[in-house]
Amino acid sequence: MEFSRRDALKFICLSCLSFTTFEGMEKNAFSIDLSNQFKKEEEFPKVEAKFYDKLKDGKIKCKICPQECEVTPNERGTCGTRENIEGKYYTLVHSRVCAAHIDPIEKKPLFHFLPGTKALSIATPGCNIECKYCQNWEISQFRPEEIKCFYFPPRSVALTAKKYKCPTIAYTYTEPTIFYEYMYDTAVEGKRMGVKSVMISNGYINRDPLVKLIPHLDAIKIDFKGFSEKFYSEICRGHLKPVLETLETIVEKKKWLEIVVLVIPTLNDSISENRNMFKWIKTRLGDSIPVHLTRFYPIYKLKNLPPTPISTLENLYKTAQDVGLKFPYIGNVPGHPYESTYCPSCKKILIHRVGFEILENNIKNNRCPYCGEYIPGIFK
Ligand code: SF4
Repeated sequence: MEFSRRDALKFICLSCLSFTTFEGMEKNAFSIDLSNQFKKEEEFPKVEAKFYDKLKDGKIKCKICPQECEVTPNERGTCGTRENIEGKYYTLVHSRVCAAHIDPIEKKPLFHFLPGTKALSIATPGCNIECKYCQNWEISQFRPEEIKCFYFPPRSVALTAKKYKCPTIAYTYTEPTIFYEYMYDTAVEGKRMGVKSVMISNGYINRDPLVKLIPHLDAIKIDFKGFSEKFYSEICRGHLKPVLETLETIVEKKKWLEIVVLVIPTLNDSISENRNMFKWIKTRLGDSIPVHLTRFYPIYKLKNLPPTPISTLENLYKTAQDVGLKFPYIGNVPGHPYESTYCPSCKKILIHRVGFEILENNIKNNRCPYCGEYIPGIFK
């Protein structure tokens, strides 16, 4: 199969479309041209997977995520990216990216992590759950061979981050748990070259792989889909409990954590359910974890629902504050005052944001310059 300039443009255009969360918010983002790193299907490496058990008759059990797929020879797990080849398990997506962009770190979103900097953001095809409102379903819900991919090994990723003056590599867009080995190797290589790594995840990962990975990461953002098993099982084909365990593990290991809740009308927008979620976050994770309440737009299998009313987000923001969370945010509403960071003590504005732009950042040495309140996060 030949790769043409037209294909390169298609890749870039598709990628831009896939990751636009709000029209007009992309002005700081651009794609990395990997057209000279195109490979044929059979040329991509097959790398032996980590965390799997060998069972009887050549079967294996994958232990990377809570799906714990049992896979017979010549079959793949639920995510479609791992294959049992003669009783050994392989990842098919190591170094195989379908998207590579430079994004503002605010787009991840991470608001208390190097504000105003850029992240080299990469993804491979695949996911371990299926959210009916997935923003990137064109790449998350397909097998690797169904998507045009490029060879981007860990060292090249780290060198590219340095070349474009990105202090951070972000594993994002699809679920990085399914490209665990690639993420792990890239984070190790990045650290060696002085580039940080952040995981943008649904939290659907088992404890052992997470604990092994955490020392190589600098921050983690978890999409907390909703505070009910019903929502997880009916809307996302997953379960709530493993995500709660992941959140607790991240805090136990003292890694910087931010949480996103995409608020979907009628499905996970009730004040009482979210109040319970905020209480759980405060009690189990602490009152200083930033919680981003983001606006839903109709997409994929939920085109029948309207965008989230801004009043719903504002009510939830106030509920989070009532419960005692110090850093709630509203997301996907560019220009809203609740995108900015306020001192939880004196209430003065500390980081003024509009969309992904930082207009001012007054935080000095993790302190509010007006009253001295400690502001948690990694600010330099
Ligand atoms: S990573 Fe993929 S193969 Fe492994 S348990 Fe999860 S869904 Fe199954």
